[in-house]
Amino acid sequence: VSAWSQVPQGPPDAILGITEAYKADSNPEKINLGVGAYRDDKGKPFVLPSVKQAEKKIVESNLDKEYAGITGVPAFTKAALQLAYGPDSAPVKEDRVVITQTISGTGALRIGGAFLERFYPNAKTIYIPNPSWANHNAVFKDSGLKVEKYRYYNKDTIGLDFEGMVADIKAMPKGSIVLLHACAHNPTGVDPTEQQWKDIANAVKEGDHFPFFDMAYQGFASGNTDKDAFALRHFIKEGLRPVLAQSFAKNMGLYGERVGAFSVVCESAEEKKRVDSQVKILVRPLYSNPPIHGARIASEILNDSSLNKQWLGEVKDMADRIITMRALLKENLEKLGSKHDWSHITSQIGMFAYTGLKPEQMEALAKEHSVYATKDGRISVAGITTGNVKRLAEAIYKVTG
Ligand code: PLP
Repeated sequence: VSAWSQVPQGPPDAILGITEAYKADSNPEKINLGVGAYRDDKGKPFVLPSVKQAEKKIVESNLDKEYAGITGVPAFTKAALQLAYGPDSAPVKEDRVVITQTISGTGALRIGGAFLERFYPNAKTIYIPNPSWANHNAVFKDSGLKVEKYRYYNKDTIGLDFEGMVADIKAMPKGSIVLLHACAHNPTGVDPTEQQWKDIANAVKEGDHFPFFDMAYQGFASGNTDKDAFALRHFIKEGLRPVLAQSFAKNMGLYGERVGAFSVVCESAEEKKRVDSQVKILVRPLYSNPPIHGARIASEILNDSSLNKQWLGEVKDMADRIITMRALLKENLEKLGSKHDWSHITSQIGMFAYTGLKPEQMEALAKEHSVYATKDGRISVAGITTGNVKRLAEAIYKVTG
């Protein structure tokens, strides 16, 4: 008998299933709002001009293909620290932040999970928001952590359940690990306000909890990389010492290049040395060292001042297109005479809108209107264009009565 005769069939990935259904649909006006990747106003994947220039420069400079060190391309990680923590960050200036290049944001979360599993001195349970990015649960479970949830989204207001969130953080056992989406919460698009972040930081501090920031959308939410880093930087100002997962998939459009970083804010430079040694010991048997090409691109963009300026403009253009599509969708729904309150579409932020549509309504969108997205009512705003927004609004209007 085959060695694998007892392997059970696993369920298909929810998002890939949508892409399959979309591909099989012969309607020329079909719309795919499932994928979490930016599209231009023609609905096409977008390679940032700053990325093309950086890439050209790298190819022309004829670099070799030698291995990077275990923690990656130093010029990249150094610049990634500056981008996340800011130019005035005390822990960065005091050289007490460990950073390693990772296989994009997912790899950063996984290295973080593995590091906490090995060294975190308190209970190895991580609390993630309900709902959260669909992969968080599996990433942390496979790293050996126990995963619990805290309240985050309020179905009735299609907004933040702020009281529930703070109450749950206060009720966690002392020293719990709390995962926070730094900005552009996926899947809801619902973020705390700056004042609410201050209260959340206080609750985390009171409980002696440990903050783990997932920052997959820096710059992509508001169009401003500093504004989107508010929560992380505020926690640090308050004396908290978080860990951070960074991704350059969305804000540089480097999805398949897998560019990310994981960092640990330490108490001292001496502690940093010890933690750094253990991060290396974790990474070495997993993948030895990370790929270099994408990190070189990101490094050029972050370190060359004219390219950097250009990139910041391009990030803002992507964020602005998304904000414009939110407004257009809401406007079109209102023009059709929809009686529902659609204000959440424009108050939410980032790649996704949580429409509040029910699974049956999402199914009707697909079956009757060739509009594809996840059953939880999440739509990727990046898939909306000036060309399809009117038809999309009509479809949503029809299924929501
Ligand atoms: N974290 C969140 C909240 C995300 O939405 C994503 C991607 O969608 C990721 C992490 C990781 O993405 P990647 O591994 O492509 O950087």
